[in-house]
Amino acid sequence: MAVLWLDEISAGDLETVGGKGASLGELTSAGLPVPPGFVVTAGTYRSFIEEAEIDEELFAAVDIDVDDSAALADAADRAQELILETPFPDELRTEILESYHEVGDGEAFVAVRSSATAEDLPDASFAGQQETFLNVTEEALLDRVRECWASLFTQRAIYYRQEQGFDHSAVNIAVVVQQMVDAEKSGVMFTSHPSTGDATMIIEAAWGLGEAVVSGAVSPDNYVIDREDRSMDVTIAEKKVMHEKDEATGQTVEREVPEDRRTQRVVSDDEIDALMDLGERVEDHYGEPQDVEWAIVDGDVYMLQSRPITTIDESGADAADPTGSVDAAKGLTDGSGSVQAAESGSTGGADSSGSGEILVDGLGSSPGTVSGPARIVIKLDDLDKVSEGDIIVTEMTMPDMVPAMKRASGIITDEGGMTSHAAIVSRELGVPAIVGTTNATTALDDGQVVTLDGEKGAVLEGSEVEPDEETEPVEEVRPQSPVKPMTATEVKVNVSIPEAAERAAATGADGVGLLRMEHMILSLNQTPAKFIAENGEDAYITELVEGIRGVADEFYPRPVRVRTLDAPTDEFRQLEGGEDEPDEHNPMLGYRGIRRSLDRPDVFAHELEAFRRLYELGYDNVEIMLPLVNDAEDIYQTKKLMKEAGIDPERRRWGAMIETPAAALSVEGMAEAGIDFASFGTNDLTQYTLAVDRNNEHVADRFDELHPAILRLIGDVIETCREHDVDTSICGQAGSKPEMARFLVNEGISSISANIDAVRDVQHEVKRVEQKLLVDSVR
Ligand code: PEP
Ligand code: MG
Repeated sequence: MAVLWLDEISAGDLETVGGKGASLGELTSAGLPVPPGFVVTAGTYRSFIEEAEIDEELFAAVDIDVDDSAALADAADRAQELILETPFPDELRTEILESYHEVGDGEAFVAVRSSATAEDLPDASFAGQQETFLNVTEEALLDRVRECWASLFTQRAIYYRQEQGFDHSAVNIAVVVQQMVDAEKSGVMFTSHPSTGDATMIIEAAWGLGEAVVSGAVSPDNYVIDREDRSMDVTIAEKKVMHEKDEATGQTVEREVPEDRRTQRVVSDDEIDALMDLGERVEDHYGEPQDVEWAIVDGDVYMLQSRPITTIDESGADAADPTGSVDAAKGLTDGSGSVQAAESGSTGGADSSGSGEILVDGLGSSPGTVSGPARIVIKLDDLDKVSEGDIIVTEMTMPDMVPAMKRASGIITDEGGMTSHAAIVSRELGVPAIVGTTNATTALDDGQVVTLDGEKGAVLEGSEVEPDEETEPVEEVRPQSPVKPMTATEVKVNVSIPEAAERAAATGADGVGLLRMEHMILSLNQTPAKFIAENGEDAYITELVEGIRGVADEFYPRPVRVRTLDAPTDEFRQLEGGEDEPDEHNPMLGYRGIRRSLDRPDVFAHELEAFRRLYELGYDNVEIMLPLVNDAEDIYQTKKLMKEAGIDPERRRWGAMIETPAAALSVEGMAEAGIDFASFGTNDLTQYTLAVDRNNEHVADRFDELHPAILRLIGDVIETCREHDVDTSICGQAGSKPEMARFLVNEGISSISANIDAVRDVQHEVKRVEQKLLVDSVR
């Protein structure tokens, strides 16, 4: 048998039908209402390649050095060609098509989904790597099945398996063919409270197909129901868009919800009852709380997927709310979800205000309180003496200090403001920091035990904190509940160092709003020119590809906005080869950002080539962002270079930062030149509008991103961009401030990108403002 029907499959059949097939089969076999379908088994794929005798050539073709981009591209092409050009044996063709005829009335639109599995490791995760096709009809079915098989050999999949140590020949692929449900309404359901496990069901619902809810394109209605007495708390959202099938093409399209249904409640009391009955049956079947995707058509409820909820805190509700200041149940009642992360380890809990003499103070730039011996770092050689748990004290951090910054428990600098290298990197690493003390390197002694309070910006004498438990920077930012606040304004995250990607992704952000490329280069400790002279152009491009790829993989398919190089000459000057950098009176006004790239198109071409290779590798989630542009002319020139580098500006998403008053005043021309988005770099926009050097601690009190002049520039840009259908975003430090988030949402910004540690708060603030707007509009 080449195919197995869903009702013949159970959870134990992972190796035959892959994870997706097994899960749908288990639900169907348990009598739950799953849309009908079948699975072309992993064994069928195996026989297909073996009987056609292409298996050996296939596996030999992909046995390559995956770090060689050209070899990887050739291998993927060859392997896919082998599969796509091998005809279906007649018997197999007949069996698949006959099975299709039994689904629906033979005219059904079906979803064709890859379900990969590895021998001996059937539950290995290859999620999102292989193809899925929706709305497939008989004509295209066989080709789509073969394309699913071939998608086992995309560059990205080959690269991933090699990196993870999977043998290519031990990975198989099954294909699920299932009737599409033309949902009138759909959503998700948690059969029990997702953080406490209490008998409370949570249902989220919106009009049309479920992708709109799962992808966050729409804010759904939220229903919180007590399972004992079925009493219910309902929050109705404004549902502006819905996904549905286009009758003419069969494709899924996004449409506006008609005015009269936007604030209409989606599911009726009877439907809630039906969903709850179903939720109870699924939970009973699996013996544990489930996270279910569901759809309703003609009054019938269907289940599209069910997974165990993995976030329930076994130690009970108290543990989910250690501070007592957040009401977990209430958090979920309004759909806002996340509760305070446990304060733990040496970064938490010290009350440093009441005891210990204040030795120095500065700007608290990365929160947390730690105690440890101070290590004064004056020259690079001093970095060797920084051990695990030490507190680095230095004039200003430099890119090659990052490894030592990771070892350190805290960082104190003499110089710098809230947007300096030390502040940005320490926040991303989750290491408490104070910047701009002016005198820490002279006022503190090497080895002296001090306590650093990164919130208040104070350094105290002695040890105030027990270094008893390990800090877990990733766990601290991970939301405790999967019910992330659904916001129409996307909330993204900033990443400067690829090492922070995992921590950034754990926040549940909607993508990366700014990935600073220069940090990848600065960590090479050589200027690009020097690195290329020693290692060659290809090595340089590969460094860029690898750095970006690490982040793009962590977030895929969520978008990652990568900014082209923007390093002032004074930062490059510190690197090997930096002696060739121009000596500038004022590097902040000098040779940096797009002006430098346009002046040296030969160097810029390497960055563009890195983007081209990433697109070729399948990273269609990568977006290009241009720093320090002033006007449309900068955009036209860059667009020309993109085209010359083989990047199609019409196919890719790209845009400009708004960091100078000139850019803000010229945004209309930039929109006409074709940008897809404009992103406020408020660190620079503030310094250039107010004439306040962002790195100068002496004027730090004048660095006010909320100054009316700046807000006016921002407001005007948002308005112009909305008229031209250009997305707007913020990726400067100010995006992490609730006051700024409030202003921006009211102005109608499309997304906000915050620092890792601020994502959760910004999500809640955005949700609060959006709900207020909604309530105001109906009052
Ligand atoms: C900004 O200027 O706000 C910005 C995000 O860019 P950078 O801090 O890297 O200059
Ligand atoms: Mg900037």
